[in-house]
Amino acid sequence: MRRNAEELAKMRRAGKVVAEMHAATREVAKPGATTADLDKAARAVLDKRGAQSNFLGYHGFPAVVCTSPNSMIVHGIPGDYRLKDGDIISIDCGAIVEGYHGDAAFTMGVGQVSPLAEELMRVTERSLWAGIAQMEAGNRLHDIGRAVQAVAEEAGFSVVREYVGHGIGTAMHEDPQVPNYWPGRPGPLLKPGMVFAVEPMVNAGGPETVTLGDGWSVVTADGSLSAHFEHTIVVSDDGPEVLTTPG
Ligand code: MG
Ligand code: MG
Repeated sequence: MRRNAEELAKMRRAGKVVAEMHAATREVAKPGATTADLDKAARAVLDKRGAQSNFLGYHGFPAVVCTSPNSMIVHGIPGDYRLKDGDIISIDCGAIVEGYHGDAAFTMGVGQVSPLAEELMRVTERSLWAGIAQMEAGNRLHDIGRAVQAVAEEAGFSVVREYVGHGIGTAMHEDPQVPNYWPGRPGPLLKPGMVFAVEPMVNAGGPETVTLGDGWSVVTADGSLSAHFEHTIVVSDDGPEVLTTPG
């Protein structure tokens, strides 16, 4: 699917709302805050901008953000978990503007975190940007995952296989899937107007995952820390344009 200029204008607006939700949640994510407080801050941005949530009600998901602390990889449900000094917290959220979607995530430290946690977050974010750099017309889809994987594994970390990035546009999750690893084939040619959410999930230990009894929260099987960074990006004539940065 290739998006035209009018569609991309709406996706840029959705992306700016997501960036503002990130800023608002980052502000609140201090020791003593609950993950429900993060959800509340993100909701206030959606209301202020007249945007809709693509997370709320998604297969019954009860919030506008996913909040995943420490060994939780993705899909944590905001609630009474209270952030404490030394935690890392992954915050994933999205917005819909005039029917077009944005989706992005980041991981941050709460107070003073361990050197390992710092390194994991730094490497995961760097792996995302390495993947984004591959989003040039003429490259292949799986050049993205190959670049992500190389950065993560060179640092001694592992990439999650069961959860992947995705196409995005008039739905949050569209084809194709965008794995964070080399799947053994190059995949389709990248063309201007294609929009993907690229979202490496990187574990300090092994790549295996377990879903908790709530049916949502995905954690590392070995209890190791996990980080998650995501942007929504369009392949443009001039290279990748990230739609979910502030501006
Ligand atoms: Mg996301
Ligand atoms: Mg996503």
